[in-house]
Amino acid sequence: MSVEGGGESEAPQGDVHAQVLVLGSGPGGYTAAFRAADLGLDVVLVERYPSLGGVCLNVGCIPSKALLHVAKVIADAQATSEHGVSFAGPEIDLDALRAWKDSVVKRLTGGVSGLAKARRVQVLEGGGRFTGPHALAVGDKTVTFDHAVVAAGSRAIELPGIPHDDERVMDSTDALELADIPKRLLVVGGGIIGLELACVYDALGSEVTVVELADQLIPGCDPDLVKPLHQRIAGRYAAIHLETRVESVKADEKGLYVTFTGHVADATFERILVAVGREPNGGDMGLDAAGVNVDERGFVPVDERGRTNVEHIHAIGDVVGGPMLAHKATYEARITAEVIAGHDVIFDARGIPAVAYTDPEVAWVGLTELQARERDIAHEVASFPWQASGRALSMNAGEGLTKLLIEPQTRRLIGAGIVGANAGELIAETGLGLEMGADAQDLGLTIHAHPTLSETVAFAAEVAEGTITDLPPKRRSPRG
Ligand code: FAD
Repeated sequence: MSVEGGGESEAPQGDVHAQVLVLGSGPGGYTAAFRAADLGLDVVLVERYPSLGGVCLNVGCIPSKALLHVAKVIADAQATSEHGVSFAGPEIDLDALRAWKDSVVKRLTGGVSGLAKARRVQVLEGGGRFTGPHALAVGDKTVTFDHAVVAAGSRAIELPGIPHDDERVMDSTDALELADIPKRLLVVGGGIIGLELACVYDALGSEVTVVELADQLIPGCDPDLVKPLHQRIAGRYAAIHLETRVESVKADEKGLYVTFTGHVADATFERILVAVGREPNGGDMGLDAAGVNVDERGFVPVDERGRTNVEHIHAIGDVVGGPMLAHKATYEARITAEVIAGHDVIFDARGIPAVAYTDPEVAWVGLTELQARERDIAHEVASFPWQASGRALSMNAGEGLTKLLIEPQTRRLIGAGIVGANAGELIAETGLGLEMGADAQDLGLTIHAHPTLSETVAFAAEVAEGTITDLPPKRRSPRG
């Protein structure tokens, strides 16, 4: 990039000029910036916080997974007492735990800064605001650009009627701070983020209650995948209230007094975590001055090349909608950087995996059974219960299930779902199968190591093909 407005393009003069300006340094933003730099473009990356990495690295995917790892160790140690080996209950040094979690975050965010330097991506700290179709103000600087990538992410939704300014009412960022371990915690929202954090606080010793508006946890996920998780946590948590809404929250020095709809009794909690979804940051950075359309919810509509209605301004990640997931943002980022560099590429992924890193984990990719039914798409379901997996039983993980959705005509894989230990890792094989156009035979005839959980993918494919020998035979008709 060139300073003081020099440079090859004809964009207006400014303090800094970039061929590619990237606004936001989350997984979408930093990936777009780095890919564009690797393709030979001058890049300026603007971020309002001193630490790069966005929500994912700082207050999302990474700190939550660090804490979930600790939660899993605690839960496994407790479960092992049923198999003849008992450990004393955990002694939790919250300061040390927080410091460890923060060190993981710092290592990664520092790594992103290092990668930016290594690529000569100029990082500007400050809130960016578009002042025209080729200009962004950052503090007292103006960055002019040929192309821009908006990767401004999303924020937690607040609920009316809840005193969000009371420090005992937390969003996910506050909850990851681990200020204390509340005796009684109410988690409002039974989606992935709420359940992951519920899992952490339960393991650390809180009595957790979950309240969810829908009729199941993780709304949108197939019920058979959610069931083992629901059963497991119903046995650990104080309560799970489905089809229930928080009616009011009254805060006083004794606690947070909550009333619910329906027949759920009022209760007092030390803390409340509100995890009812996230909303895009599209309305916050003056995109109208650049002529870019933002919809009424704050999403920035884009085409399959990540282009907004203004051809040289792109948008990616949470701010464009679709599943709000880091790997969706990074995939879009690569496409967008390559489009800017003149490559003929589009977003054409067949599946975006979703993972709840709960205990047990829940993961799916491609079409869900619910979607297939809703959209009237012909499909067969082939499920393999982990009760018949030697590896699962030896890991005390027999509640799991692997299922495949197969297109009846072509026998191709069109979707997969897994619940159980390491489901988030296991789903990758089915994602690859989906992208490669694998059919049930391909999966079933791939030799999987024994005993592994990954075998359950092949076993489910054998169920689809009618060749499974690890389950009882299908009952024959009287004539055989
Ligand atoms: P973000 O990561 O939100 O980054 C946007 C960046 O833009 C931010 O750094 C912000 O400060 C900056 N910004 C915004 N406006 C401006 C401005 N005007 N000027 C300058 N900078 C600006 N996803 C997964 O795939 N796996 C997980 O396990 C997972 N766990 C999660 C756990 C939690 C608790 C949360 C909250 C989210 C989780 N997510 C997870 C979602 C994931 O974090 C997001 O999908 C991902 O971060 C989106 O990336 P992004 O680049 O679009 O935006």
